[in-house]
This record gives sequence, C-alpha cells and structure tokens, in this order.
Amino acid sequence: MSVMVPSTTPAQSAGHEALESALFQLDRAAERLGLDDGLRTMLATPRRSLTVSVPVRRDDGNMDVVQGYRVQHNVTRGPAKGGIRFHPATDIDEVTALAMWMTWKCALVGVPYGGAKGGVTVDPAQYTTQELERLTRRYVSEILPLIGPDKDIPAPDVGTNEQTMAWIMDTYSVSAGYAVPGVVTGKPMTLGGSLGRAAATSRGVQIAALAALGRAPEGVTVAVQGFGKVGAGAAQFLADAGCKVVAISDVTGGVYAADGLDVAALRAWVAETGMVRGYRDADELGLDELLELDVDVLVPAALEGAITEANAPRVRARLIVEGANGPTTPEADRILAANGTVIVPDILANAGGVIVSYLEWVQNLQAFSWTESQIERKLRDMMESAYGEVKSVAAERDLTLREAAHVIGVGRVAEAHRMRGLYP
Ligand code: GLU
Repeated sequence: MSVMVPSTTPAQSAGHEALESALFQLDRAAERLGLDDGLRTMLATPRRSLTVSVPVRRDDGNMDVVQGYRVQHNVTRGPAKGGIRFHPATDIDEVTALAMWMTWKCALVGVPYGGAKGGVTVDPAQYTTQELERLTRRYVSEILPLIGPDKDIPAPDVGTNEQTMAWIMDTYSVSAGYAVPGVVTGKPMTLGGSLGRAAATSRGVQIAALAALGRAPEGVTVAVQGFGKVGAGAAQFLADAGCKVVAISDVTGGVYAADGLDVAALRAWVAETGMVRGYRDADELGLDELLELDVDVLVPAALEGAITEANAPRVRARLIVEGANGPTTPEADRILAANGTVIVPDILANAGGVIVSYLEWVQNLQAFSWTESQIERKLRDMMESAYGEVKSVAAERDLTLREAAHVIGVGRVAEAHRMRGLYP
C-alpha cells in the first residue's frame, strides 16, 4: 500500500485569492480609519489557527486522512463565531479569509462575537452518512480545546447541515458529561435549534435586496447563482416578494425562463434528482452565462471568486446582493463600481445567518425560546438597521457599500481593541 501525505500548502489555490481579497479590503478600511501599523498587522493576523489531521474509517475498513482547520480570527468583542465548511478545495487560507469576514460581519450587525471559521478538505458527496458522522466527530475531537459556548461557537456552512451540528453538539456534550446546546448553532429544533435559523441567511438576503432595490419588487428580474442552503431560499423569498426569478444555477448548470421560474417546482425537481440541470419547464443555461444575464438583480450564492476581472465587464445587473462570502474580487469591484453597479456586500447581505445564530445561542444560554415571528422581527430590525448605517456612511464618505461596511466593521473591532488595551 502506498502512503500519501496530504499537502497543506497548495501553490495557487482559490483560498489564497480569497485571503488576498480579505487583506486588501482590511487594508483599505484601515487606511480610511487611520489605524496604525501595529493594529493593522494585528487585525490582518488570526489570533489562533489550528490545523489538524483527521483519520476517517471508511465503511470498507480502510482509513483516509483528511485535513481540518479552525481559525479564530478575532475574539476581542466576544467569543469566536463562524461556520464549518466541508469542501474539497478548502484550505487554511480560505478558512482564514472566511474567519476574517466573520469578524467584520459580527461587528457590523452588532452581535457580540469575534470571527472564526472551520473547514475540512473533503468532498462530502463521496462519503456515506456513517462515514461523515465519524469524520465530523473526529474533527470535533481534534479541535475540542478551542470550541465551547463561551469561546468559539461553530455553525453550518458549505457542505454541512443540521445533522453535522447535532453530531458536533453530541461530541462536545459527551466529552463535557452533560448537554451543551450553546456550543453550536444551526442545530435541529429538537436539540435547541431556533425557529427561523434554517431560512435565516436567505431571509436576510431578501431583506437586503428589497432594501437596496428602493422600489416595488413586482416584475424585478433576478438571477441566482447557487441553489444550496442560501440560494434556494433566497430565490424562493424573492419570488414570494413579487420578483421574477428568471435564472438559477448550481454546479451542474443553469436554467432560464423569461417569464419567471416556478422556484418551488424547481426545488422539488432538485430534491428528486440532485441537480438543477434537466428541469423541464425552462431553457438550459451555461454555467458562466447566468452571471452575465440582463437582469435587475444578481445574487451570487455559491463560492468565492465568482465575479472576477474577467467577467465583471460583462455583468449587466444593476444590483448585486452577495449571498455567498467573497463572491466578488477587488478587481471586479472596481470595474463594477465604475459601471455604476451597486453591490450589497457579503458581510451585510448574508448576515442573516449569524444574526439568527446569535438569537439561537441567546435562547440556549437562557434555556427559553422565542416564537418564529419574534425571531423574524428581530432579524428584520437588525438587518435593516445595519443596512441603514452602511448606506449613510457610504453617502457621507462617498464610499461603495462594501467600503462603508468594512469601515464600520473594522472600525468597531479597532475601537474595542483600543478600549481593552494591550496586555501586558
Ligand atoms: N456560515 C455562515 C456565515 O458565513 C453562518 C455563520 C454562523 O452562523 O455562525 O455567515
């Protein structure tokens, strides 16, 4: 048998690009805020970063070893918070970038957390449920010293779901000797999950899109890239609000219907077949075509680096609402801003997830629960007030919404550092 040691440092990865983007955005915000070099360096560097090897017993008895990560970018405003991603292209740079965006996101929407992210370099589709359970539990055991309801609270991200969160909660609780629901959010309802959490990111995208539209949604055309936890719900909520969702894609391809897609029927098709492609009541669309359609609103809700300097000049949407983290590169940002395209940035547009994660955690710590309409109202209030703040800082300082969101988020973290002081 040959032994393969997995590399931890791919030469030119998507993660590297994501980290470059995150560092660029931080640098520009730091400049605008007049932060000194020491503080800039501190904010550019994760507080803690753990890489682990995760041995997994396959059902056939063989063992795989995959790489896992947990990065706590910042813990100044509260415990670290952020999802765990299972994806074949995940690496330490990507997880670091995503952790940094969590820090600014939490500060921007006013939840008392720092930022974190976790990842395992694995394609979950290649593993059975039993294998995924063993993988998740072993990964959690490896990062156990870092996490806890007062320290670092994971949540779902790409490739993970409620079941993954249940295994995390159980692994942590067995080790503690008692049930600790507050160690993770996005749990099933039976384990202390929150009403409204599953749909929260999508609901937040809808709230952000409608706020930024500034006109009645009836007849507004929308294209959504990605039909997972965020994209499918966002398409549904935007259609419910009266928008015409004309195009949707996933990794296998896209579908287009000029009169609007029946999003519920498409969801049923995907539940049955596992992919958007082949859906009958629509035309087929090439993967890259969706981003360049002549629509009013584009919702990238897949992965980082979807809109780049290569395709940005051909993007025709007037409004982009980022359901994904980091879908637009800084070069693309520049091109889109010059073309007058408005972008509601990720750290604002997709913050609905972490907002309801916060509400879930508060309910866990207090051992009580809010109704779905109470959760929805709180989510709406927090999203709309964050949007209002970003909009007014953008207007006052003549910035794009992304630049303004980073000035606010980075500024709040910098201020918290200043007030706490440097120990020793
Ligand atoms: N993974 C989600 C995000 O990127 C949610 C994080 C959380 O709820 O902690 O915002």
